[in-house]
Amino acid sequence: MSATTAESKSTTHAFQAEVSQVLNLMINSLYSNKEIFLRELIANASDACDKLRFEALTNDSLFEGDQDLAITLEIDEDAGVLRIIDNGIGMTEEEVISNIGTIARSGTRKFVESMTGDSRKDSQLIGQFGVGFYSAFIVADKVVLSTRKAGSDEAAVRWESDGKGEYAIETLAEHPRGTVVELHLGKDESEFLKSYRIRSIVSKYSDFIAFPIRMLADPAPAEEGEEPLAPEMTVINQATALWARPKGELADEDYQAFYKQLSNDFNDAASWSHNRVEGNQAYTTLLYLPSKAPYDMMSNREERQGLKLYIKRMFIMDAAETLLPNYLRFVRGVVDSDDLPLNVSRELLQDNPLLSKIRSAVTKRVLGMIEKLSDDDEAFATFWKEFGSVLKEGLVEDFAQRETLLKLIRMQTTQTRKTDEPWTTLADYVSRMKPNQDKIYYLTADSMQAALNSPHMGIFDKNDIEVVLLTDRVDEWMMGHITDFDGKPFQSIAKGDLDLNHLVDEDTRKQHEAQSKASESLVERLKAVLDDKVEDVRVSSRLTDSPACIVISENEMAMHLQAMLKQAGHEMPGSKPTLEINPQHALVQLIDGQTDEDSFAEWARLIFDQAWLSEGGQLEDPAGFVRRQNERMMSIGQ
Ligand code: ADP
Repeated sequence: MSATTAESKSTTHAFQAEVSQVLNLMINSLYSNKEIFLRELIANASDACDKLRFEALTNDSLFEGDQDLAITLEIDEDAGVLRIIDNGIGMTEEEVISNIGTIARSGTRKFVESMTGDSRKDSQLIGQFGVGFYSAFIVADKVVLSTRKAGSDEAAVRWESDGKGEYAIETLAEHPRGTVVELHLGKDESEFLKSYRIRSIVSKYSDFIAFPIRMLADPAPAEEGEEPLAPEMTVINQATALWARPKGELADEDYQAFYKQLSNDFNDAASWSHNRVEGNQAYTTLLYLPSKAPYDMMSNREERQGLKLYIKRMFIMDAAETLLPNYLRFVRGVVDSDDLPLNVSRELLQDNPLLSKIRSAVTKRVLGMIEKLSDDDEAFATFWKEFGSVLKEGLVEDFAQRETLLKLIRMQTTQTRKTDEPWTTLADYVSRMKPNQDKIYYLTADSMQAALNSPHMGIFDKNDIEVVLLTDRVDEWMMGHITDFDGKPFQSIAKGDLDLNHLVDEDTRKQHEAQSKASESLVERLKAVLDDKVEDVRVSSRLTDSPACIVISENEMAMHLQAMLKQAGHEMPGSKPTLEINPQHALVQLIDGQTDEDSFAEWARLIFDQAWLSEGGQLEDPAGFVRRQNERMMSIGQ
């Protein structure tokens, strides 16, 4: 490759501070896995070829007569130099400065924080965070990048740096289209000057790059007395789209290797599905369920990546948003359409009817893969742990798939806690329901501990009625959107006026009626004192061992969640709850016996605050609560 320097003067620039930080970290932590620099630079070269091919769809002249897109690796053993050359899109000077001198994507700090010190894991982070180019400095003392942008009038540029905080830029009079990255390898890095070593790295990481990767092959040794043969340019990768090959030709290892290249995940995929669809429209999908959640699965990234759209083998764009609902954002893969028009713009793709058909087919296919995975308890346990809470979002977002998703949901219940099983399904819960039971009872709480100790559990424990225990952050939100499973409505045991008469025996019912009558005056007294705090006071049919509990109305958000949102600064509408009391409890009887109205009022407030706390609520006056409690505790000692 020739590149002549023009008359231009070289200018020196300082790296953005974060770049130096990333560079240092990367060099130190990835040294034990340094070969990955080649994977990163080849991926960049391949992206550059993809970009050119895509832009040339609407502007053929960008090819400048050369459509043979390829990546070439050149070894100059004497000079200690390795070059990665592509004839892709190239960069203008401005692009070089903004792409290579700064880290455009906002994730730099996150990247630094995410580094684990485990070089295998960290090496995958590079790809996920878009800082791959810098991995060149793991093996190179000096990197020279020269590039010319396809179709631009601007002069080519040469960028040079030793990775120590500064880089120099100058313009070049001539340069072939595309980019040359020239690595001046450190003195201990001569292994990367051996063609067999380079070949083995390429077949390990870059075999499925869809462009040919070429290199001069070492010639066969010359026969005695013959001229030595000239080395020949050969293609050292498969250079075909893996998904376009027949399934029968592909081994599991091929699928896993492709997954890793596609996803920047170092773990194996949990499962995959490779399909060719013919009919009204023809397309191929290769979809993967990962085994581990990506680091940013729960953050709302603007641009979601993971599902790549190809049209006739040509990369068009990352199209996860168009092709997958948000709650399946962890899926990785490729969709390759035969029918979409090649010269389509991103905007048009957004509401293309062919694509929305593919989207619903992909969604169904993925849910089918998850269903299949659920046949294997052990595999599904791992999967559910990683992705269960994201799938639950689907119950809110995707009405059409609600039935399917409800079948997939796994949960703990009072029963699974007893039998030490990891979970149950809703179908199993329904099969265990009491003869008269017509509802699926559940409780949401901050933790399993809080759920199990909740005063609301009382009557359910006593009558051995199974309760679903939900402790995920998304659970309360999810339950607000689903109404029933298999015709059985969901009922929170902490909300509304529970009517359990049909589930308890005649005696318990009669007892409750008698207690309600006998406690009428206590209820009135409590109402008078707690008028500003409660909507109503009533005798509970829920409680067994606790003196009182707070009950909110059906459509209100659970107290622990209200408390959390309040803490996060959200205004919570202050509608008043109901206080339920248990007249059989000694404490309630003690309160009932207070003839002094001031003392009665103090007891009443104390018991209300206790019930409020049990619910995970936040006290309005914690100091007042502590004072009341202390006074009463001290009176025991007197
Ligand atoms: P990423 O490729 O993940 O964005 P990199 O640090 O590897 O992160 O590269 C930064 C950017 O530099 C790329 O996004 C691309 O715009 C540009 N770039 C790198 N290598 C090339 C190349 N060979 N040809 C054209 N542009 C390139």
